[in-house]
Amino acid sequence: MNAISDLARAIAADATSLSSIPSSLFGLPEQAPHEKVLLAADAQTGLRAILAVHSTARGPAFGGCRFWSYDNELAALNDALHLSQGMSLKNALADLPFGGGKAVIIKPQGDFDRPALFAAFGRAVQSLNGAYITAEGVGTTTADMRGMQAETSFVSGIPRDGAFGGDPSPKTAYGVFVSVDEGVKRVLGRASLEGTRVAIQGLGAVGWHLAEYLHQAGAKLIVADIDAAKVARAQAQFGAQAVGIHEIIAADADVLAPCALGAALNAQSVPTIAAKLIAGAANNQLATAADGDALQARGIAYLPDYLVNAGGIISVAREYRGEGEEAAVMAEVGRIRERVAELLERVRVENSTPARVADAWARSKLVAVR
Ligand code: NAD
Repeated sequence: MNAISDLARAIAADATSLSSIPSSLFGLPEQAPHEKVLLAADAQTGLRAILAVHSTARGPAFGGCRFWSYDNELAALNDALHLSQGMSLKNALADLPFGGGKAVIIKPQGDFDRPALFAAFGRAVQSLNGAYITAEGVGTTTADMRGMQAETSFVSGIPRDGAFGGDPSPKTAYGVFVSVDEGVKRVLGRASLEGTRVAIQGLGAVGWHLAEYLHQAGAKLIVADIDAAKVARAQAQFGAQAVGIHEIIAADADVLAPCALGAALNAQSVPTIAAKLIAGAANNQLATAADGDALQARGIAYLPDYLVNAGGIISVAREYRGEGEEAAVMAEVGRIRERVAELLERVRVENSTPARVADAWARSKLVAVR
């Protein structure tokens, strides 16, 4: 299989999980409705964006911006609705004084002026008067965020001279790392990560930093990415074992870390998983709630994505509030370890699944904190 057809298959598989029509434009099944959804278009730059404010109960809705090619506009809407609701749960569980929101920009076909497009997006963010604060997401960069500053003050994730700020990915990776470490001790009963086999799906901004942390801790890495150069680099730098993108989920590993895109855990993949612990950065890893139950039935502990991948939002939230300082941010991200421990204890006491326990726990925190 060559790299291009691998890429096409990977994108098609991910898009399938997103392209279903939302059952309601005002909320997802069993979820609180979204407070506000803005469809923003700009003919001059080709901007077509969806800014979804799920909840401002805890404070302004905070969540990154995804820049992506979608099959159709409903797929983009569905993605924005799912991701913004996930941000409400993520921010609540991380005890942040922010609600949940997310934006997606539909990548224009053909040539486009990127700075102009993001400037137009910045104006759309500004038009919400602070109900939504944006930052990096899949497909966006610190340069995009910096460029938007002229249009809106409701943006974070920007490198700042002499002050804390910028790319949240390393902080996300650190949160996933402490989650894997705690899970390995509590679920697998191992004293350390030394010799633990971890399969990483996706060596992007987060996956790569996670690989670095795990390698330093003595874990043995199994990796896959649609980008062969990243895989080759991981083989050279970490002595990682490379497998194909269709093999990584079922890899012979102790831990599976999905760090690519959503819905990696679905009806087809769950029966094939060999790992006994799942903890990764990707948002919306479970295709459906039933897939969480199926994992539990197979004796696989799934640490919910929005619990373990909160490091990035913790970082941009502190930066936005002017409370950023490397050591303090890392300490706050490190507290994800305590939440993983508490979650696993709650799962034991309540005899439920981690996904359901985390969901109820986060929902109980969807209340005003100011
Ligand atoms: P990224 O785009 O930098 O990396 C994604 C990587 O996955 C790329 O290297 C890509 O080639 C690879 N990939 C794509 N499809 C694949 C497939 N089918 N199999 C194997 N590899 C595949 O993105 P990122 O910033 O590292 O984020 C990764 C995930 O974590 C996303 O779901 C994102 O929403 C989530 N997340 C990221 C952050 C953050 O701080 N960046 C925070 C929270 C959640």
